[in-house]
Amino acid sequence: MGKLIYLNGKDGINMEKIEIEKKTNEILSSYDILDIPVDPIDIAKKLNIKVFNRNFNSFSNDTVSGAIKKENNNINIYVNEEDTLERKRFTIAHELGHYFLHLRCNPNKEFVDMHRRTGYNTQLPEEKEANQFAAAILMPEKKVRELYKSINNLGVSESFIIEWLSERFFVSKSAIKFRLKNLGLI
Ligand SMILES: [Zn+2]
Repeated sequence: MGKLIYLNGKDGINMEKIEIEKKTNEILSSYDILDIPVDPIDIAKKLNIKVFNRNFNSFSNDTVSGAIKKENNNINIYVNEEDTLERKRFTIAHELGHYFLHLRCNPNKEFVDMHRRTGYNTQLPEEKEANQFAAAILMPEKKVRELYKSINNLGVSESFIIEWLSERFFVSKSAIKFRLKNLGLI
């Protein structure tokens, strides 16, 4: 297992997208993760972070999709047990984004994140960055471009491409669509 490279200095606020892409590529190559679908639980395990399914119904009207919490000396990730597997994978990757981009820089900060399913907090820089991180680690740019090119060459419809890629990367169709748009491919 290679050496992990962490960001130094600033808190990751207003981090450029390109830095996040670079960081996720570093993480993937440091763990020799070369194939898709990328398993975020596998990455969590290597970091000694435990991932738990959790019933969030006791929280405000079932809108919590996940959380990352420092508890004693452990870091735990919780995902909403009612979510689909695709959604859980994205949530775990999002929480890992908080870990790598925000928590690492504030080791003494008791970091609790409850991000909501419906737009809550998504405008905060830390939330945007965690979403960018999740997209970049689950859908590595190089792989997306490579696979998009190969499927697009067949002259199939955009909806077919989206469905096919969502299965390859094991993400929701909306997640891959957003990623393709962000990379300027559609
Ligand atoms: Zn978050």
